[in-house]
Amino acid sequence: MTRLFLAPALPLAILLIFITVGAGLWSGLREQNRDQIHGAVQDQARLLAADLEEDFAEHVLAIRRMADRMATNPGQSEAHWRADARNYLEDFGIYQAIEWIGRDQIIHWVEPVDGNESVIGYDVGFNEERRAKLARARQTGHIDISGIIQLKQGEAGLVIYAPVGAGRDNRGFIAGVFAMESLATSMLQGKITDSFRVDVVSGGDVAWRLNGERPVAERFSHRVIPELPVIDWQLVLTPEQSWVDERSSYWPVVTGISMVILGLLTSAAVLLAQLILKRNADLLKTRRVLDREIRQRQEAQKNVARLESTDALTGLANRRFFMDDLGHSIAMAEQQGHQLALIMIDLDKFQMLNDSLGHHFGDELLVLASERLGKLNSERVTVAYSGGDEFMVCQQHVEDIDDVIHLLGQLQQCFADPFMLRDEPHGITATMGVAVFPGSGTDADTLLRNADVALYRAKEQGRNTYQFYTEGMQDREIRRLELDKDIAKALANDEFVLFFQPQLDLNDGSIHSVEALIRWQHPERGLLAPGEFIPLAEESGRITDIGRWVVLAACRQLAAWKETPFGNLRVALNISGRELDDDRLVENIADVLEFHRVPPAMLEIELTEEIFIDNIQRNLNQLSRLQQLGVHLAIDDFGVGYSSLSYLRNFPVDLLKIDRSFITHVSDRHDDAVITRAVINLAHNLGLQVVAEGVETREQLNFLARHRCDLIQGYLISRPIPASELEAGILDGSLTQGLELMP
Ligand code: C2E
Ligand code: CA
Ligand code: CA
Repeated sequence: MTRLFLAPALPLAILLIFITVGAGLWSGLREQNRDQIHGAVQDQARLLAADLEEDFAEHVLAIRRMADRMATNPGQSEAHWRADARNYLEDFGIYQAIEWIGRDQIIHWVEPVDGNESVIGYDVGFNEERRAKLARARQTGHIDISGIIQLKQGEAGLVIYAPVGAGRDNRGFIAGVFAMESLATSMLQGKITDSFRVDVVSGGDVAWRLNGERPVAERFSHRVIPELPVIDWQLVLTPEQSWVDERSSYWPVVTGISMVILGLLTSAAVLLAQLILKRNADLLKTRRVLDREIRQRQEAQKNVARLESTDALTGLANRRFFMDDLGHSIAMAEQQGHQLALIMIDLDKFQMLNDSLGHHFGDELLVLASERLGKLNSERVTVAYSGGDEFMVCQQHVEDIDDVIHLLGQLQQCFADPFMLRDEPHGITATMGVAVFPGSGTDADTLLRNADVALYRAKEQGRNTYQFYTEGMQDREIRRLELDKDIAKALANDEFVLFFQPQLDLNDGSIHSVEALIRWQHPERGLLAPGEFIPLAEESGRITDIGRWVVLAACRQLAAWKETPFGNLRVALNISGRELDDDRLVENIADVLEFHRVPPAMLEIELTEEIFIDNIQRNLNQLSRLQQLGVHLAIDDFGVGYSSLSYLRNFPVDLLKIDRSFITHVSDRHDDAVITRAVINLAHNLGLQVVAEGVETREQLNFLARHRCDLIQGYLISRPIPASELEAGILDGSLTQGLELMP
């Protein structure tokens, strides 16, 4: 079908068909029009003929009547009849003359006399045929018509003889003389419109022509033969050209031309359509080729994009993709007036497990956790792996906070069941920080920062929980500023005190080290624990001043204990990361030690793990200087946060303090026991001593002793106490009472 339509000859064929049809219509319509014109001419001709016949019959009748009147009124005078004849002539003007012919066939009188004088006395029986016909007319009383004869008056004409009486009573004839000329003109003229030329054809020749002066349409001539007695006439009616023109329809031409134009247009349209179709077919072909190429390329790009946007290990979206997506999602949320939640997830204790049980183990655990988290991926929720033990979740179309809380519940649910790894169940929890657009930030970076702040706060509150970023966290800024002023005052007024918490040496059951923990004797709020001011002091930088005071106070105490029963006590100080930023830290410690003449080895400095991760180069330098000074170095809160064991090889530490969170369940949770054991072994392998923090029960002590932990610290021995209480406790042995180790 399409092939037929696309044939190159098609437009030409269409044009030809149209031309043929147009020509047919044109000639048909023209023929029809001509027939109509012809018919009209024919009608005119017939009318004319009929008129002529009627008129002629009437005039013949008029002569007849006159003859009858004469027959019935024989007494009337010649003068009477002649007057009668004149009247008639005047009235109608058709007859050339009216004559009276006696029985002798001689013309006795004629009216009008003028021009006809010559006929008087003429014998109308001028030949045998005439005589016979007249005799028969006399006998029958029927009219006789002479035929066209040469009239005595000189012209051609015909005579109608009406016998006056028949047979014996016949008294002669009244005769009406027609001159052919006047018969034709007077009878035809006035009957026919000017639009026709009328030819009276007699004996094959045109005898008279009426209206011969204008151009005529010869083709529409019509010939009629009127039924006239004797007269052998044919009337030929020829319409004038203008008359024909008036009746000529232009429809045939219009129709014909229209068809041709239509044909041209149709074939042009077909031609155009063919061109377009062909073009389209060509385009389609190239399109198909292009499409295939594009599809292949898109496929390739998609693969690349998927590789680029997905984390290879977990199969979740990676951080870069997530951040890009977050930007779009925020823009959309802004447009649609929705909220959006950004959730940061941190796996608790993951790094520790990772390091103690091996990277493969950690990876497997991450994969399992990602599988569970990935199930929450949906149109509204995107879960991404951010690296380390962190995940990020974006929730779109948040109508109200309950939506987010519901999701947080689902996220926590992911960690409800332990993860089965190498046939062992491993319980893991997650801590989450949430920032909600637009309340907690209107751009991706701010949201991320605030979600991080919230996560940090959640971690501070203890793990396995979540925290929304709130305005309150900004209030904290104000509180921090106020506290900052207060701390300055407290330093000036000497409101800080050091409490000491003893550490029990599991090797010999003695106490020869204590941790110094700061307290604030606040004039209004009473004794404040470090948690209430240290974190804020770290943020504001005031921690440096506090740190100096602590070093000072500790050295003063060491100096005071010198040459007393407590002279062997080593004092451990807490130094926060922020304090390491102080270039003068090491000099300051050295100065103080020297001032109080305290051997550096009596001082131990506890640093948390972050220090070993952040700003490694600089911190390494500080720590090396401290070690060179001769003070002991301990890693505090070991096992939480960003633990990576590799740094232990590079940093000059003497001691590890296992975080309390591992110790709390060390005697009843498999994982914690495994980790603790691993840390102890690891430390020993590296030649480090191990301290367990937060020992509160005998079972914990037993476990730690069994696994050869070096030192323990916790409420089981003593809470942090003022120096005087410590001294008393050591002296009376109450601190170590009941803690004798089983052999
Ligand atoms: P930390 O260095 O981990 O100190 C140990 C904390 O554990 C102390 O809390 C101590 O009271 C508590 N603790 C000890 N044994 C047990 C136990 O058996 N059970 C329980 N539940 N808790 C126990 P504290 O004194 O409130 O100190 C809190 C934190 O403040 C310290 O944690 C340390 O990071 C910081 N800090 C204390 N003093 C100073 C200081 O002078 N300078 C700096 N930079 N930070 C300090
Ligand atoms: Ca500590
Ligand atoms: Ca600690």
